[in-house]
Amino acid sequence: MKIFCVGRNYADHAKELGNAVPEAPVIFMKPATALLESPTPFYYPSFTHELHYEAELVLRIAKNGKNIAEPLAQAYYDKFTVGIDFTARDLQAELKKKGLPWEKAKAWDHSAVVGNWVPIPHTINNHIQFSLEKNGQIVQAGNSRDMIFSFNHIVSHISNYFSLELGDLVFTGTPAGVGACEVGDLLSGYLEKEKMFELTIQ
Ligand code: MG
Repeated sequence: MKIFCVGRNYADHAKELGNAVPEAPVIFMKPATALLESPTPFYYPSFTHELHYEAELVLRIAKNGKNIAEPLAQAYYDKFTVGIDFTARDLQAELKKKGLPWEKAKAWDHSAVVGNWVPIPHTINNHIQFSLEKNGQIVQAGNSRDMIFSFNHIVSHISNYFSLELGDLVFTGTPAGVGACEVGDLLSGYLEKEKMFELTIQ
C-alpha cells in the first residue's frame, strides 16, 4: 500500500506558507508505516517542537491502474474520508531551506491519520465540505471546489508516474489554517457535519 499526498492544492494555503501556486500537482509519498487508523493512539514525536495538523480529504484507490485518462479517473476510487497529513513544520522548514527531501518532516510513523471510510457520492467532484476542530473550535474549513487540481486530475496525474494499486491512498491537499498542536489537544475531523475521527495527542 502506498500513500500519495498532494502539496499546495489550495491557493490560500500555498500563500500562508509563502509558496507559489503550482502549475502541476506537487506529489510526495509516505510509506505504509505512516498510516494511523483509530483507535491506535497518537504520540507527539520526539524529533519536533512544531507539530502541525493539515486536514485533508483522502481518497481510497479501488482498482489497479496506470496512465488513467482524467475523464475515467473516478472509476479508480470508491471511498473517501477526512484525514490529517501531520507535519513536523520546523524540520520541514530546515529541509526546504537546504533544498533537501522532506520525508523526515512528513513521512514518519503515524503521520497519516485517516477517519472512517464512506462511499464516494456522485457529486464527489463538486462541493465537498470538510473541517477540523481543535479542542471544540474550528481551526480549518475547506471545500473541494477550492482545490487547484480536482480529484480526477490528481488521480490521472499520479498514474502517469506510479502504478496505482487497490488500497493506495491519496491525501488531496490542505486548505489554509494549518497550525501547531500540543500534547493534550483533541482533534476532530468532519466530513460535512459527520465526525470521521477524533484523536487526542499524547
Ligand atoms: Mg498536506
